[in-house]
Amino acid sequence: MSEEEYLRMKGILDNIARQQKILAENQAKALARPHSSEKTIATQLRRIQSRMRMKPDHIAAHKHSSGHRDEIKNSGVCGCFYCLEIYNPIEILDWVDEDERGVGQCALCARCGIDAVIGSASGYPITKEFLQKMREYWF
Ligand SMILES: [Zn+2]
Repeated sequence: MSEEEYLRMKGILDNIARQQKILAENQAKALARPHSSEKTIATQLRRIQSRMRMKPDHIAAHKHSSGHRDEIKNSGVCGCFYCLEIYNPIEILDWVDEDERGVGQCALCARCGIDAVIGSASGYPITKEFLQKMREYWF
């Protein structure tokens, strides 16, 4: 073969050898990290997506504002997210949404009469700030 052809073939061979070396290095790196970055990203994405399905407290707390007779009775304090008053649940006299025995299951606020009462037994904070946040969302 001509010298020109020989040099051209050698160039191709050197190039292939270089690429082989790079491939081997990359493979070694991948083996050294069993958790590939793609797997980590997929895991983080799933966690965030599952957290996003949970509602913020001031929205989730709303389900504690009805069908809550027992919860209100077991609460040390309750608050109204319409008038924002905080008081003792024994002050509540009016109940609606009667069950089969004719007992109202939903409290009407002792101060303003709106069905927007939530008790401390719900586990949510009965504070002006929290009630205000609920009011902004629900009214
Ligand atoms: Zn009220």
